[in-house]
Amino acid sequence: MSDKELRIESRLAQIGSVEEPVTGAVNYPIYQATAFRHPRLGQSTGFDYARTKSPTRKVLEDASALLESGDAGFACSSGMAALQTVFTLFSQGDHLIVSLDLYGGTYRLLEKILSKYGVTASYVDTNDLDAIETVRKPNTKAVFIETPTNPLMMVTDIEAVSLWARKHEILTIVDNTLLTPYFQRPLELGADIVVHSATKYLGGHNDVLAGLIVTKGEKLSEEIAFLHNSIGAVLGPTDSYQLMRGMKTLALRMERHESNALAMAHYLEKHPQIAEVFHPGLPQHPGYEIQNKQSSGNTGIFSFKVTDSRYVEPVLRHLKLIAFAESLGGVESLMTYPAIQTHADIPLEIREAVGVDDRLLRFSVGIEHIDDLIEDLGRALEAARVEVEGGLVHE
Ligand SMILES: *Cc1c(COP(=O)(O)O)cnc(C)c1O
Repeated sequence: MSDKELRIESRLAQIGSVEEPVTGAVNYPIYQATAFRHPRLGQSTGFDYARTKSPTRKVLEDASALLESGDAGFACSSGMAALQTVFTLFSQGDHLIVSLDLYGGTYRLLEKILSKYGVTASYVDTNDLDAIETVRKPNTKAVFIETPTNPLMMVTDIEAVSLWARKHEILTIVDNTLLTPYFQRPLELGADIVVHSATKYLGGHNDVLAGLIVTKGEKLSEEIAFLHNSIGAVLGPTDSYQLMRGMKTLALRMERHESNALAMAHYLEKHPQIAEVFHPGLPQHPGYEIQNKQSSGNTGIFSFKVTDSRYVEPVLRHLKLIAFAESLGGVESLMTYPAIQTHADIPLEIREAVGVDDRLLRFSVGIEHIDDLIEDLGRALEAARVEVEGGLVHE
């Protein structure tokens, strides 16, 4: 049975398991070597120097390409390193169309760094084809999509945008961090490049910083291989191993993240101190249908607004099980306050236009027991209500 014929759960569990023929080790070893002996002049084992190609990293890269239904995979030292490598495809004078509700670090990279090299970006709701057509210029080279977006969970129809982009010879690049290939495979929907912060769900344990790029097509794969080697922001062998170890349990983790987040969203929806819940698994969410069409499940991230911004500080202070911390996608539940943390680099006008205001909290729901999570957040909300409004504590 070839790897391609296996179901995704089996491919994940078996990453690197059959690749070591010498000892038969069931997990692939960590090759620390940075230099590889040449058998003869003009000959190579396939490995020369570790920046270009390294054995442990290669097993991860090949597995990633297969998981995302792409042609080549590239492991980078972080999600930002992966994004920088991809954005280096563009030259002075090129223009990009980018999702409005964007990861703050990606916005910073585009506006503070790429802009210095003459690459410009327009930020629009990428699910609105009229809006992207309006900002398209003759020098537009790519559309960059996050779906769902973080924190507001806006959903973009990847297939529709890819079709539109192809017609205009524009590349479609998707940041697939929130859903992972377990739930969504953008290259199958027509995208050209997928990027990941593998630090999040793929690693899954808040203990390895990594990024991935997966490309479709020979030309694009060669271009990214050249940039990956030339820029050198590659993933080390130990981190490559650590990431593969995390990926082996991705299917199990994503199932639990999804069910916990959905149960939590249903709980908060009915809570009197919650004004709004942003979760594309709720039928009233504007992205519900597209999300169901293009993905086989939902991420464990969602956000919600409390009815009064004065609840935010005490809620975060009273949480015990759920950690007040940035990042997302790990087995531990984390809560963050986007307006002053992850999205602080995005100007106020843009933030408020999309709805990242001072009542919004983002929740990365972990794999703990759902009842413990509901109890923890319920208690913190009640304690916040008592502090803000006075009254009896209901323990
Ligand atoms: C975290 C994140 C990144 C950046 O990745 P790092 O691994 O932190 O460098 C990019 N995109 C999204 C959607 C993220 O959540």
